Amino acid sequence: MLNKFQKFFYSKILKRKYYRTGHCLGCGKCCKKIYVKHYKGIIQDEKEFENLKHQHRFYTYLKVIDKDETGLVFECTNLDPETNRCKIHKTRPGICRRYPQEELFSMGGSLSEDCGYKMEPIIPFSEVFLTIQKKETNKKTNKKSWIRETFFKKK
Ligand code: SF4
Ligand code: SF4
Repeated sequence: MLNKFQKFFYSKILKRKYYRTGHCLGCGKCCKKIYVKHYKGIIQDEKEFENLKHQHRFYTYLKVIDKDETGLVFECTNLDPETNRCKIHKTRPGICRRYPQEELFSMGGSLSEDCGYKMEPIIPFSEVFLTIQKKETNKKTNKKSWIRETFFKKK
């Protein structure tokens, strides 16, 4: 659970909606089903992807294994199929070190159910609900006092 300062820092300064908890269990699933997003959206064809390869070394590790309703599906060639471990773990790109981040959701991805990480909302739904409830109560109270003051004013 985040303290008040952390909540403020993540949501107001970093503009994040989620924070990461848990740890990696080393199942390798996130290296086996990858979508690639660039400024035009999620990569749909291989020609488009070839152009991206010059932009970041991470792309050079990927190979196409499928295409689904979201886009091309890649697998990383650095994943050891025997052990499910990354063969370049110490020098893996930053995107792998920071995984998972909330951008994952905007890229059409999701955490696998048995991933050791969880993405928790920084402001829990119950807190958002309470704030809305408070605002509604305040609105009603203000309306009532306005009616009282306007129509039942003592002369
Ligand atoms: S899916 Fe989760 S637990 Fe599995 S390797 Fe990736 S980060 Fe680790
Ligand atoms: S470089 Fe390593 S951690 Fe990153 S996607 Fe490939 S296998 Fe996974």
